[in-house]
Amino acid sequence: MFVFWCAKVCFGILTVINNVVFLLLNSRYLLVRIVKIEKQIICEQCDLVLDVPVDKGFKVGVCPRCGFVLHHYHPMPIVYSFCYAISALVMLITTDFLPFLSINFSGLSNSMMVLDYTTILNNDDLGFAGWLIFLFMQMFPLVALGCIIICDVSFLLKYRNRFAGKILRLFSFCKDWSMVDVFVVGVLVSLIKLVNLVDVVYESGFWSYIIFALFFLLAISRFHIHIMWDFFFDKVKLTRPIKSGIPAINQNFYLCPVCENIVDKTVYSECPRCGKDITDNSNTSVQRCLAFLIAAMAIYIPANIYPMMITVYMGSGEASTIIEGVIVLWKMGSYFVSGIIFIASICIPILKIIALLYLCFIIKSPKRAKKSRYLGVLFRIVEFIGKWSMVDVFVVAVMVSIVRIGNVMIIEPGVAMISFGSVVILTILAAKQFNPKLLWKSNKFIYGVTVSNG
Ligand SMILES: [Zn+2]
Ligand SMILES: [Zn+2]
Repeated sequence: MFVFWCAKVCFGILTVINNVVFLLLNSRYLLVRIVKIEKQIICEQCDLVLDVPVDKGFKVGVCPRCGFVLHHYHPMPIVYSFCYAISALVMLITTDFLPFLSINFSGLSNSMMVLDYTTILNNDDLGFAGWLIFLFMQMFPLVALGCIIICDVSFLLKYRNRFAGKILRLFSFCKDWSMVDVFVVGVLVSLIKLVNLVDVVYESGFWSYIIFALFFLLAISRFHIHIMWDFFFDKVKLTRPIKSGIPAINQNFYLCPVCENIVDKTVYSECPRCGKDITDNSNTSVQRCLAFLIAAMAIYIPANIYPMMITVYMGSGEASTIIEGVIVLWKMGSYFVSGIIFIASICIPILKIIALLYLCFIIKSPKRAKKSRYLGVLFRIVEFIGKWSMVDVFVVAVMVSIVRIGNVMIIEPGVAMISFGSVVILTILAAKQFNPKLLWKSNKFIYGVTVSNG
């Protein structure tokens, strides 16, 4: 009840702030800034130079060659992202001080706080896994929210923050590694597992984390980092024209991956706006990707051999690996949860490794040019599903925190948790090393030059 009240008050106050800010500031100025981003942009997936039409009804910008979503346009992104970020921050802090879940089992009960897993995993010599989970579900989201708030306040006060470059880079990093949505799914899967065994009580902390996750995702989606780069730093004017419809690399231009600035490679060796080194390292991209994949494949073996979770019932313990866990759940009749864990922990990592290996090898093949678009989509799918394999690790973290009922039933974490978590991180890193522009390189076709409305 307290949480709903808190969320309601928070939302009420923010709606008022939102309206006041909207009236006080020159709203037209804000709207114009969103739509007239640039006259030309470079697609970060296929490297094509595109014109951005100045159109206020324009909601989603899609690259006509590779289908990549270049930009989402939102009205008043600054004010909205600020309000959502403040709400998310309040809800996250509230979660940490409230009980998260409680269970009752034959007269005995136990309740947990959301961060209990850190101490439990530490006591079981798995402190590393505990810290990683803490970073993914709490620390990175918290820092990302802090960065959004600082940048939005600076923007609204028209104050050019000296540390803006560092803050925006920190934001990009924390956003990439935040796994709030995956944690929520992990909690829900644990709950479905638990309701068959014990009575579960959803405490206020549980609801506040769900509300936090919602506000967090909204804040992230409304915060457009290129608007911030353009505000804090002047755009560097190009000394020669850049033609739309032709890949940037053919014209010796480069899209800075950090600040989305268009850099003339004949003049600069590093981005004049953010200082990022722009030496073309696409030759080693495949090697780096393969190195991470080989490491991931090697660690995937112990992740499947060692136990993920140990259930101690009435003094006798039973260890279960990932696949044993799936089989047990299937036999118990929990087909849905068993399916989710099978897909997230077994199918996704294997398919991801196979897909990346395929992409690394097809780059050398002449057949690639005909299927660039499909390969681009495959790469984007691999990038998107990357973090979702973490579900099983989060499930174990929640289960070990909540299932501690006297000496009757205790769930202990298994060492495979660290190996499996490392596999997920390594495959995410492998996908980050892969340069999708290689799928399009030397592709001579020139396509429609205007960003299409998706
Ligand atoms: Zn493209
Ligand atoms: Zn840059």
